[in-house]
Amino acid sequence: MEKDFSGLIKKLRKINTKKLDDLFLEFHISEFEKIDCLSCGKCCSGLGPRLSETDIDRLASHLKLKSSVFIKDYLRIDEDKDFVFKSMPCPFLMEDNFCIVYKSRPKACREYPHTNQKNMRSILDLCVKNTETCPVVENILQKMEKLNNENKL
Ligand code: SF4
Ligand code: SF4
Repeated sequence: MEKDFSGLIKKLRKINTKKLDDLFLEFHISEFEKIDCLSCGKCCSGLGPRLSETDIDRLASHLKLKSSVFIKDYLRIDEDKDFVFKSMPCPFLMEDNFCIVYKSRPKACREYPHTNQKNMRSILDLCVKNTETCPVVENILQKMEKLNNENKL
């Protein structure tokens, strides 16, 4: 279940865009130094990406398949009309949490959990949602909450 970060989010919405992005980036870097994604793998086993046409073509080429065959074998269309993997955990996730298509992985996989993006203010709700999956995002928001409680934000 999501922790209640509503007070923090309200405060973060009032912070200057550049300052907020810098703060996220600083914590993104420091928290990813502490957590090894290969010992976690929760996003790849539970969430999975939306795939664009470019993602599909790149992955199909990586697997030496026609895009139409790749779509038929691996993808389905979800309720938002986006392409997603037919089954989860992701079919390309190995038992040791390695991604066998890492070099050709979808853009959404490259960007997850989005805590080093520009304009973090626009995805604060998504960050709260991602605390359900990603321990890094949860740690980042907890660190910010601590700063907020100490009136340092
Ligand atoms: S393609 Fe790779 S990075 Fe993306 S969800 Fe699958 S295993 Fe994870
Ligand atoms: S959920 Fe977060 S910490 Fe876990 S593998 Fe994904 S990005 Fe890394």
